[in-house]
Formats: sequence, structure tokens, C-alpha cells
Amino acid sequence: MTHTDRARTDGAIVIGGGIAGLATALHLAAGRLPVTLLVAGPLGAGAATFWAQGGIAAALGADDRPDLHAIDTLTAGAGLAEPEAARRVAGAAPAAIDWLVSIGAPFDRAAGGALALGLEAAHSRRRIVHAEGDGTGRVVLQTLIAAVRANPLVTLLEGTSATALLTDAQGGIAGVAVRDMEGHAAELTGRAVVLATGGLGALYASTTNPLGATGSGLALAARAGAVMRDMEFVQFHPTAIACGADPMPLATEALRGEGARLFNDRGDRFMADIPGAELAPRDVVARAIFAELAAGRRVVLDARLKHVERRFPGVVALCRANGLDPLRDPIPVRPAAHYHMGGVEVDATGRSGLPGLWACGEVASTGLHGANRLASNSLLEALAYAGWIAADIAAAIPAGTPPPAAVPALPAPPAPALRQLMDRQVGVVRDKAGLAEAVATLAGAGDEDATRVALMVASAALARSESRGGHFRADHPHPATPTWHSRLTLGQVAEPGTEPEPDRVRRAAMTDDAERQVA
Ligand SMILES: Cc1cc2nc3c(=O)[nH]c(=O)nc-3n(C[C@H](O)[C@H](O)[C@H](O)COP(=O)(O)OP(=O)(O)OC[C@H]3O[C@@H](n4cnc5c(N)ncnc54)[C@H](O)[C@@H]3O)c2cc1C
Repeated sequence: MTHTDRARTDGAIVIGGGIAGLATALHLAAGRLPVTLLVAGPLGAGAATFWAQGGIAAALGADDRPDLHAIDTLTAGAGLAEPEAARRVAGAAPAAIDWLVSIGAPFDRAAGGALALGLEAAHSRRRIVHAEGDGTGRVVLQTLIAAVRANPLVTLLEGTSATALLTDAQGGIAGVAVRDMEGHAAELTGRAVVLATGGLGALYASTTNPLGATGSGLALAARAGAVMRDMEFVQFHPTAIACGADPMPLATEALRGEGARLFNDRGDRFMADIPGAELAPRDVVARAIFAELAAGRRVVLDARLKHVERRFPGVVALCRANGLDPLRDPIPVRPAAHYHMGGVEVDATGRSGLPGLWACGEVASTGLHGANRLASNSLLEALAYAGWIAADIAAAIPAGTPPPAAVPALPAPPAPALRQLMDRQVGVVRDKAGLAEAVATLAGAGDEDATRVALMVASAALARSESRGGHFRADHPHPATPTWHSRLTLGQVAEPGTEPEPDRVRRAAMTDDAERQVA
């Protein structure tokens, strides 16, 4: 395909080369459906998946069960996670791990040969499957990339960014407009499009996400008219390494699972009296650290543990690359935007409300994470929904002819002013005045994708006058009833000077049993 061409595919188009896009492509191809896979940069670069350290949650231990995993997910979700999504995803976890093993993922094993299981915050059991210690994301990504490259049904277009979704006369999704790294534009039509473009952490100045994580898939879907759910819920990881790097390297939560402790520069272990201590939910730890920093104190993570070099070689290497020695000195840390719970609203098969559009991975809002994601549930969610999406598309589109070869710009990071505004006014601690100012600034700041996505996050945060999970309002510090999901289209926030008014949808009722256990 040359520039300004239009090419037709009879199969599916998947946008994104992280775990969500690669797993979806492989499942689609396993159902004999040809797939065109678009990736903004070279495959493997620019995906948050590469950086995942902790691992993948799955109830595999002798003392564990999927329903316990589901309960932990619901508890972390702060009243907003959907019980059915939690039950289905936790139930699918062991098979998802089996699938990765079957395509060659070399997970770490205990002495007897069983998978080694780590412990992370807010998990009631050891259930974190990991590879090369803290190299899980990289190892899993490499495994998926090898499988995709070897699969003749997947046509890979590296260096190709999706710039718009093409719609048909009925408002269904008919394909994707793309641009290659030299700026050549083209259109690719197809009958199923899967967004797997990742999160939006790079909208914040302090982030652990790759700088291409600007929410571009959210903008594509929102411009086409899709509903965004729970956009205000951003998870701030408590222990990003404060070493001046952008993005910030991460000191995985699993370190705290293995005994690392947080101190301020007066030597106080300030988490000691908070329920759960260092293993409290992420939002609780993030706010406690934020409060120390706001009071002018530095915070460090003492990770001088016995086997730290063997179990966490990645963290040790990241520290050393930034002039720190975690074996000798505690690691300076601060919270950073890490994971976006909200996203394109999808159903149990990953379908959005727009015919022909599915969403998988961090770009999607499946209901699993509610107001706060349980650690190591996002790689799992992507794996589970990849299979369900592929089955749904296979049912909707019969196997067709292989797609033609098509053309192949890493997205630029958003402007520093926007990122600082997000840190300051739409960050760990929010209030009405700051959010209203952010909305007014962003509403008048132009039509760039990143600005529009930031505006949706700020608008939804302004409309939610309560604190819940990752969303903390200093002017409304407690959760309110009833519990509701926000639903927002771009049209509801785009007018400067108007008050954002997202739709409010009650969370599905839980069974009495589950309700009791979460309480
Ligand atoms: C430092 C770090 C550690 C983490 N640790 C864990 C962990 O231990 N366990 C866990 O479960 N989760 C973890 N997470 C979260 C998890 O890694 C992500 O949520 C998950 O990898 C997202 O996968 P994804 O496929 O949705 O997106 P990504 O892996 O981010 O992939 C997105 C892909 O889409 C491409 N793309 C984006 N926009 C476009 C476009 N317009 N056109 C074409 N391509 C595009 C990108 O180039 C990229 O290839 C961690 C995240 C970070 C940042």
C-alpha cells in the first residue's frame, strides 16, 4: 500500500502491540481469521507490557480459589468493580497462564517444578505468577512477539499509527485511518477493529508509563462516538523511583510483599499504624506517601532484603542505571500515574457500543477494576478478554481471505504544561476548585487528542463529588452512596463553559454472599 491508498481486509484489524493486542491477534488467528496488527513503533517498544514487573495474578496455590481472587478484586475496586467481571476473569486466570505456558512463556518455578507464586498488596494469597524475577512483562511480551511473528495469518504493520476510526453510514466502525513514520496516510477498511492501545499515564508529568501512553485509543474511540466509563479513576503507583528519569522507573509492589518497608527522612515507618501497612491498597499507600511529601519530608523504600538481587534483578538494574544502590541505600520514591481504570465501555465479550469496535487491555473499561485495580490483574484482564473478543469476532465474521500487505510515528509525548497541570490538579489529591480550573484550561486548549483525553478525565473527576479508590477529593474525602459508574461521551465535555454532566449508572448488585465477604 502506498500513501493515501485504501486497502481492504476481510479479517480483523488490531491496534496495539502490547499484551492485549498480541494475545487478541493470536487468538483470532487460532480461529483462522486473518489479522492486520498495527503498532505505532517497532514491535516491543512503547508498550507498558514490557515494563510489568510484578506478574500475573492467578489462583493456582493449594490454599487459593478463583472466588477468593474475585473477592480481593472487588475489595480493591472500592465498591465499583463489577462482580460478574471479577468472577469471570478470576475464573479464567489459570487457563490464561496455561495458554502462555503452552506458547513458551518461561515462568519462574519453585523447587518441585510448580509455578512460583509471589505475594502482592491486597491479595489474600500468594498468587502472582512471574518470570525472570521481576522481568515478567518483558518475558511475556517476547514470548507473544515470537508467536505473532511466526504466525502466517498475522500481517504486522510496525511503525503504523492509527489516527482515526472510519465509520460507515450507520455509525458502525468500518476501518482505520493510519499514518506511517514518514507521514504517509492511508485507510484500511475491515469489519472488526480491536483497540488495544494501552493507557494514558503520559498525560501526567510523574508517570511510570511509556511516554507514548497518551490515551490515543481513547481519543480515537471518543471521536467516533464511543462511551467512556469511569475516566476519572487513575491509579497512582506509590513507589515510583524518584531519580529524575521520565518516565519514572518502578519499584514493584512485590518488593513490599517480600518485606521492603517505607520510611520518611525522620526514620518514621509512617505506614505502620495504617491497616495493611505497606501492603494496604495502592491508593492508601500513595496518599500516605503524598502526605509525607506535601509536608516536606522525603520518602524512601528500604529494600535491603536477603534475596533482592536474585528476586528483583530488574529493579536493582534500574536503580543502578540511575546512580542508586538499593543493596546499600533505601530507594527514594514518590507516587506516579500508573494505570487507568476507566476507558472505552465494553461488555462481557469486549464489545463497545459502536458496532464493529472492540477494546482490550488498559484502553477498555470492562468493570473489573472499579475504582482501583488490584495489583497484577491488568495483564490477566487483557489475556482473558483477548480470548473472549476473538471468539465474539469469529462468531460475527466468518474466516475470510488473508489481508493484503499494507503500509507501515511514535506519538509525541503531550506538552509539559499539560502534564504538569494533570499532576497538580487532576492527581493524587483533587478538589473542586482545582478540577474546575483544569477543565476550563483544557476546554480552551485546542483539539489535540491528548488534550481531549485529559479533559475527559478532569471532567469526570469534577463530576464525582466523593472519594473512592484511586479518585480522592480533599473536599469530599469519603465515599458516597449510591455507587455509580460515570459514562461520558466527548460531546458531553467538549463545550467550553459548560458543566460536565456524565451519565451515572449504578453498579450491578452483588450476591448477598459476596457482599458480606467484601464487607
Ligand atoms: C512499570 C509498570 C509495571 C507494571 N506492572 C504490572 C504487573 O506486574 N502486572 C500487571 O498486571 N500489570 C502491570 N502493569 C500494567 C500493565 O503493564 C498494563 O496495564 C498492560 O501491559 C497494558 O497492556 P496493553 O496491551 O493494554 O497496552 P500496552 O502494553 O501499553 O500496549 C499498547 C500498544 O499500543 C500501541 N499504540 C498506542 N496507540 C497507538 C496508535 N494510535 N496506533 C498504533 N499503535 C498504538 C503502543 O505502541 C503499544 O504497542 C504495569 C505497568 C507499568 C507501566
